[in-house]
Amino acid sequence: MSQGRLGASHHGTETLAEVDAVAPRVCVERATLSALVEEGLSIRQIAERLDRSPTSVRHWLRRYGLKTDGRRGRRPVNEAERDGPQDARATCPHHGLTLHRWFDDRGYRCLRCRSMYVANRRREIKATLVEEAGGCCAVCGYSRCLRALSFHHVDPTTKAFGIALYGSARSLARAREEARKCVLLCSNCHAEVEAGVTSV
Ligand SMILES: [Zn+2]
Ligand SMILES: [Zn+2]
Repeated sequence: MSQGRLGASHHGTETLAEVDAVAPRVCVERATLSALVEEGLSIRQIAERLDRSPTSVRHWLRRYGLKTDGRRGRRPVNEAERDGPQDARATCPHHGLTLHRWFDDRGYRCLRCRSMYVANRRREIKATLVEEAGGCCAVCGYSRCLRALSFHHVDPTTKAFGIALYGSARSLARAREEARKCVLLCSNCHAEVEAGVTSV
């Protein structure tokens, strides 16, 4: 009985010793940290270098009375601004750190947000023109998917109706004028017309 209790307690001690061996992390040395601060790195960058959390880095900075230079930490932004007055790296609430471009009417805008906006705007313009053209393929009546519908020039010598024409608000009038010279077709009927199987 006493043997059993001894065995159990011995085993317990061993487990505790193992935990003790791995638990404490090596402290960050003052010289190491001070050198990284000198480099002008931000807390986040130092954390990455040392494979520590920013919270841990903040702890050691406080402990040694060191301070990162906030202005120098944001240096990439200033450099981007110097490269060209139009573009700069900045943080977008949707996309994180991205390239931003200056627009006179709206200020700096995230280029990824901008391209999504342009794509949406093109879709809206196309939807408007498709609606105005009857909303379905002039040959078979297909209407399910906007992407499978396109404007086909009645005069075959004129080149295809380009997506660029859906470009901007300013070009809506121009696109509308172009759409009037076209017939709305689905992809299948468009291919058949091109192949000469079907005529419009
Ligand atoms: Zn964005
Ligand atoms: Zn069709």
